[in-house]
Amino acid sequence: MSFINVNYLNLPGSYLFSEIAKRVRAYSEANPQQKLIRLGIGDVTSPLPSSVIKAMHRAVDEQGTDSGFRGYGPEQGYAFLRDAIIADAFQGLGADAEEIFVSDGAKCDVGNFQELFSLDSKIAITDPVYPVYADSNVMAGRGGPVGKDGRFAGIIYLPCTAKNNFIPDLPKERPDIIYLCYPNNPTGSVLTRTELKKWVDYAREQESVIFFDSAYEAFVAEDDVPHSIYEIEGAREVAVEFRSYSKGAGFTGLRCAYVVVPKTLFCKAQSANGKSKKVGLHGLWLRRQSTKYNGCPYVVQRAAEATHSPEGKKECASLIRAYMENAGRIRSAFARKGLEVCGGINSPYVWISLPKGTDSWSFFDALLKGAGIVGTPGAGFGPSGEGCFRLTGFGRAADTLEAVERLEGFSF
Ligand code: PLP
Repeated sequence: MSFINVNYLNLPGSYLFSEIAKRVRAYSEANPQQKLIRLGIGDVTSPLPSSVIKAMHRAVDEQGTDSGFRGYGPEQGYAFLRDAIIADAFQGLGADAEEIFVSDGAKCDVGNFQELFSLDSKIAITDPVYPVYADSNVMAGRGGPVGKDGRFAGIIYLPCTAKNNFIPDLPKERPDIIYLCYPNNPTGSVLTRTELKKWVDYAREQESVIFFDSAYEAFVAEDDVPHSIYEIEGAREVAVEFRSYSKGAGFTGLRCAYVVVPKTLFCKAQSANGKSKKVGLHGLWLRRQSTKYNGCPYVVQRAAEATHSPEGKKECASLIRAYMENAGRIRSAFARKGLEVCGGINSPYVWISLPKGTDSWSFFDALLKGAGIVGTPGAGFGPSGEGCFRLTGFGRAADTLEAVERLEGFSF
């Protein structure tokens, strides 16, 4: 008899970041005089906006008064924040405040949402990919046997390579659940309205559901790139959307995010007698959250609310501008070297296609030794990431400038 969930034993080890740390440590010990510039990180480096800090101070003081003290809050989030989200981000898109579920991070939301689906549901993910989508399904038991290339037999992979401009083709086999992340981590690619409409239409035809991760929505700059999947007609019947305050407002340490679950989204449920009926995901997620979650802290929700104020929006826009300037500089530096570069326009991620035959770990070593720059090998995000390399705009501006200068003299 097994006590533990053996599905966990099928998970890949956290090889990527431990291997990066090992190689960086070895290099630093051998070259203690070299200042390393870390551009592999997905974490932000700028301090929080002052409107956010002021809102938190006010909320902390309230907690010390009889009239202002708050204990357990609503599991879905306080109305002040949910109303602010609707007014700021979903005007005209049909969503209402009851469809917003506030949480302490998009990572747990995208990881947990699969719980609402049966274990025999088939999922499709892009390759390369943000690892949480695959790993949370493997934990649940949807992975099946793992092949030599690290792919799970139970998962449908949608390769994103230079050949398709890092935009996945529609699946050949029907998935129940499709994970889409745009702007994309790690490739920095985006879907235009026309491209996203293809996916929404496909999901409607196939009765699939789309998990749309728009954690990087705040970085969208071009007009034909949608900020929300609900800009596409019919998406409210097939898609949930995950958003986060982490990257666009600097909340990676503070922790706040939300999911939009439209009340118009229904999926098939099969009962024991073989009859099927449609069940709304909104009611199920409400039940799940109110059972397993007790809400994001009041002080943090006040901080999140501040990002939707005119002053907060201005401050966040300036944070985003600075990160995008970094990303633009990295992008240009590699383009000047004649390499194909994706991202860095509507996304803080820059995805570099390496010269033919260069594998991503060899390039990692060359960049570390030749320029003292730490990036992330594409192979770490999935087999189709091999031959590519990820750098991010989240470093400090001065460090990024120095990295770009070093790149001028770097050859491989
Ligand atoms: N989704 C994607 C695609 C991400 O890259 C990340 C973080 O790097 C997250 C979700 C997690 O966001 P959060 O900090 O809100 O948990």
